[in-house]
Amino acid sequence: MISRTTPAPHPPRRRDPRAERAATNHHAKAARRAASFALALALAAILPLAGAVAQRRASHVGVGQAAPVQSSQRRTSGASAGVAQAQSSRPRLVLLIVVDQFRADYLERFGDLFAENGLRRLAARGAQWTNSNYDHMPTYTAPGHATTLTGTYPAENGIVANDWYDREAGRVVSNSSDPEDRVENGKYVSRWQLLGGGAAEHASSPRRLLASTLGDELRLATNDRAKVIGVSVKDRAAILPAGRHANAAYWFSPVTGNMVSSSYYFADLPAWVKKFNDARPADKYFGRRWEYLLGSDAEYVRRQGADAPAWENIGNVPGDTNKFPHTITGGADKPGAAFYAALDASPFSNDMLVEFAEAAIDNEALGADADADVLTVSFSANDYVGHRYGPYSHEMMDITLRVDRQIGALLDYVDRRVGLQNTLVVFTADHGVAPIPEHATALGLPGGRVNNADVMTAIKNGVRARFSKSADKDTTADYVVEPSLNDNVFFNVVALKRDGVERADAERVACEAALTVPGISRCFTRTQLVAAEVPQSDVIARRVLHGFNQRRSGDVVVLYEPFKYLGDAIPATHGSPYNYDTHVPMIIMGAGLAPGRYPQAATPADIAPTLATLLRVQPPSNATGRVLTEALAER
Ligand SMILES: [Zn+2]
Repeated sequence: MISRTTPAPHPPRRRDPRAERAATNHHAKAARRAASFALALALAAILPLAGAVAQRRASHVGVGQAAPVQSSQRRTSGASAGVAQAQSSRPRLVLLIVVDQFRADYLERFGDLFAENGLRRLAARGAQWTNSNYDHMPTYTAPGHATTLTGTYPAENGIVANDWYDREAGRVVSNSSDPEDRVENGKYVSRWQLLGGGAAEHASSPRRLLASTLGDELRLATNDRAKVIGVSVKDRAAILPAGRHANAAYWFSPVTGNMVSSSYYFADLPAWVKKFNDARPADKYFGRRWEYLLGSDAEYVRRQGADAPAWENIGNVPGDTNKFPHTITGGADKPGAAFYAALDASPFSNDMLVEFAEAAIDNEALGADADADVLTVSFSANDYVGHRYGPYSHEMMDITLRVDRQIGALLDYVDRRVGLQNTLVVFTADHGVAPIPEHATALGLPGGRVNNADVMTAIKNGVRARFSKSADKDTTADYVVEPSLNDNVFFNVVALKRDGVERADAERVACEAALTVPGISRCFTRTQLVAAEVPQSDVIARRVLHGFNQRRSGDVVVLYEPFKYLGDAIPATHGSPYNYDTHVPMIIMGAGLAPGRYPQAATPADIAPTLATLLRVQPPSNATGRVLTEALAER
């Protein structure tokens, strides 16, 4: 359970006097905007057709076929009621909830077991897109989170993976490292300081993100009166949805057990965050047993099969097994780094995150005034658990049921403090996950693991055979850059030029060689992708194209067959352009949207332009998603 104190009334927001003076003029503008918005909503409220459509949509709601919950903020008859409601329903808070690695089918497979106040409430009162897919690959955490509130793909926002080879730096960089971080004499030097973190930990920053977010645009539109805060256990999942002009992003240090931030945002952690950390928020979970939420394994066995099949592999986590219950110590006898890593992969880190999100709402007065604020909350534990046990495990089912309750608790809190009628709530995931390959194989599906080294060897051999001048004078050894990651292969363009090798020829030879390796299905060259020689109607190729950033991506992109992985390090993973990785939930609940299930094709890149329309601000800089007009109640 989540412990919390009774919420006190919202304190008035602390203001900078200079901002206050500058704001006077904006208040008059905001009042005029509110009046015209109210008029538009009033007109919508008296249009009988729009009302009838909305009613019909509301009558067949989503998860678990729950009955629609009465929504007091939406749609009653009469123009005067419409005006009053429009004024009270102007959003004060955008709450983005991301559950890391939450597949769309979890809503259907487990929805009947969800609580009334969690995802079932969102599905009943929100607009739910049942065919929402990421339209890019690789489907990893950083690209997915970057898409949520920029409305763009990696091709545009630059977040091409979690970690990628940086051609200019000549090394692998992390998505949330700063471009000015350096390696000096083998020592990593961060441009920023990690506030609350361990001495050896790197500080993160959003400066590799090449786009504005919805939060950035709200701040631009309000002379910075809007507040934007991102929280997660993972740095990238806190930083990227919030954006470059955010007030703060906070994540969990597995070294110190603190919620930490970067001096990118401020020189020192706010007092309330220090106070939160002084209470050692993680340590209270030490030794906690993760039991079945439903009390017994019966329903888990019925839906997921036996616990702990051979393909689950917790790896070498001390003090734990593949079976329920799981005792969370990390094999240690007291809280410390081993325990914090174990806590990450348990539902208890999600509890801690809810507690922190609630503290942020209170202490930063989020949603307290007419300038809409943004809070992004990304639950990471589901991803760690999914990687270990796979999407058909007891553990995945249990943490899914638990995150539904945790979301319910957060929504209840927001309702008490801000009012859900004043909040736009978005629920989605950053990617899905594939079945564990050995599980897929056992079912007759084309599962398997492709060894990355085999692909690299084939490419190097192919390149040598084609470009080496003679056997005793082979100069091709430095053509292919190591390491290769994210299914991207880079050439050393200096070496190619030195030997007079055309880059396009090398790319083609590499693809021909890669396609000789069993399990590799397709291969794309930089030349093809830059020239857009892949048709938009080819969905898989389009996802590759959307994930290909001309400066940051490689020279060759290799695809493997469905149910197969490149690499063998973890039991289950994601990253492909296939539906099990791209199909994610997408629900938006709030004023201006007609509740219901929408089967139209959609993508999380559509979230930001749709929210921008509802909030009447500029869409983020390079948003390419569409406005989800089918659900707009206000026309
Ligand atoms: Zn993820």
